[in-house]
Amino acid sequence: MNANTTTTSLDKVRTHLSAECFNKLYIGGRFVDPIEGETFPTYYPATGELLHAFPRGRANDIEAAIAAAEAAWAEGAWANMAAADRAEVVARMAQGIEDNIEMLAEIEAADVGKPFREAAAAIGGSAAEAKYWCSLGAVLDAEQEVPVDAGGGKGGVPPEGWDVVYRRDPIGVIGLISAWNYPLNVAFRKVAPALIAGNCAILKPSEIAGLSCMFIAKVAQDAGLPAGVLGVVTGDRDAGAALAASPAVSMISFTGSSMTGAKIMEACAPKLSQCALELGGKSALVVFDDTDLDRAVATTMTGFLTNGGQICTAHTRLVVQKGLEAELLNRLRERLEKTPYCADPISERDRGDPGSADGLSDVVQPVVCESQHRKILGFLDEARAAGVEVFTGGGVPDAATVGHEGGYYVQPTVLTHVARDADVWQKEVFGPVLSVRSFETEQEAVQEANSTPFGLASTVMSSDPAKARRVANRIRAGAVYATSTGEGLLAEHPAVSRGGFGCSGIGRELGIGGLHEYTELKSINYTGFSLADARKQNTG
Ligand code: NAD
Repeated sequence: MNANTTTTSLDKVRTHLSAECFNKLYIGGRFVDPIEGETFPTYYPATGELLHAFPRGRANDIEAAIAAAEAAWAEGAWANMAAADRAEVVARMAQGIEDNIEMLAEIEAADVGKPFREAAAAIGGSAAEAKYWCSLGAVLDAEQEVPVDAGGGKGGVPPEGWDVVYRRDPIGVIGLISAWNYPLNVAFRKVAPALIAGNCAILKPSEIAGLSCMFIAKVAQDAGLPAGVLGVVTGDRDAGAALAASPAVSMISFTGSSMTGAKIMEACAPKLSQCALELGGKSALVVFDDTDLDRAVATTMTGFLTNGGQICTAHTRLVVQKGLEAELLNRLRERLEKTPYCADPISERDRGDPGSADGLSDVVQPVVCESQHRKILGFLDEARAAGVEVFTGGGVPDAATVGHEGGYYVQPTVLTHVARDADVWQKEVFGPVLSVRSFETEQEAVQEANSTPFGLASTVMSSDPAKARRVANRIRAGAVYATSTGEGLLAEHPAVSRGGFGCSGIGRELGIGGLHEYTELKSINYTGFSLADARKQNTG
């Protein structure tokens, strides 16, 4: 790999980024400059070169977006449409994303540092997921004015003469604050259900990598979404904080770290507004010694290396039964030491490896930015000082190994002799770092899996289905994979709700429950006349 190759790739992405939507905020249906006229730099993680300067929205820009959203909400046309009609507009937005997968994937590869093929698979998945959301428009319409019944209980039917129905109303003006690791997916997973439910929303993407999210503004405008219904304001944590604290904002849907999640709750508390929080994780991969060794090695690799370990559900804790420990670790080290580095994520297409078909691959990508790189290396220094053993990796690869100088690369690292209270066991490192502990009994396996404050996802691997089920039932996590093969690890399906226990969050995303998060349940009690009377056209 020579410097010219990355320069050519970068130039191509810079051309994409010259379009208006990547250089303006989107407020009131128009692309506008930030009031202060400031920009943020963003760098290519593979080399550290400047990629783009994008607009820095401040609190005053957030206020302008909120004012536009309040006006659209007060006007009421969007909220009063049938959800199925709103879904048609969102479907056009999703089509706009699907039509531009190649360009968006190149932008995400350059912004996050993930291989192009993984970015393309993720963005394709986002467009596909949107189709599911759109199909729920009609489901939501069918849930309007549903008669209240006993709900399965006894004696719970409302009194005679009452005509009581449930509705699911939109919440109002809401804020959507998103993370950088799967920028477009995380953002559109909020935008699509929020809009189908009838809300007016302001999206604040991550300042670390959020360029692909800016395209959502373009597809909204092209799809004919009414002005003000969606605003997109790029900015840093201060812009996010202004959005969360605004009295006009009735809900925040947030994806990000647990620490920021707590701040969002604090901001929502004085106004008692809702917050849905999708937060960090420290997922365990529990491997029993009756598991096929090859499958255990492959699953461990996928679990902690995909997207450079920068996934909320990354399986960064290996909990392995003693009988398999030595063999599994030795095989893992062999594989890791041969794993190629991804020198130019933008041009990283199919290497022909088995995982590439579904977008997962065993290559070492750079981590997203300089501060994240520093933070990961800091975790490793502290771990060494605390007596943790570096089984493999543990530092920065040299230029010959990567294929060029610079960039934010970390060697895939396996840590052993890890105490249960060590930071690398308890905290989210968000990099290619795996911590290992072993167990003898099923009881110990469960204790190890549940030994952190997080509870986002976990996996139990065994060839014994009954044992896998017993353990899966006792793991505290919003999503558990019970498997003999490791197939489907990290996979999500739009119809399957997920979310966090404990410090991993509040609320559930995806599935019909994920759409309901953006609604309020309301009962209307008709007396003196019936709902049927009320439904008759007013002939005046
Ligand atoms: P982060 O918490 O640093 O930032 C997330 C977003 O919050 C950004 O847009 C940021 O600008 C904004 N923000 C920061 N401080 C704020 C404040 N005080 N008020 C309002 N907004 C504020 O997280 P990150 O580094 O962007 O993302 C990585 C984290 O996201 C990891 O912890 C990861 O596990 C988590 N994540 C969770 C899921 C999930 O579904 N559970 C998915 C993806 C990422």
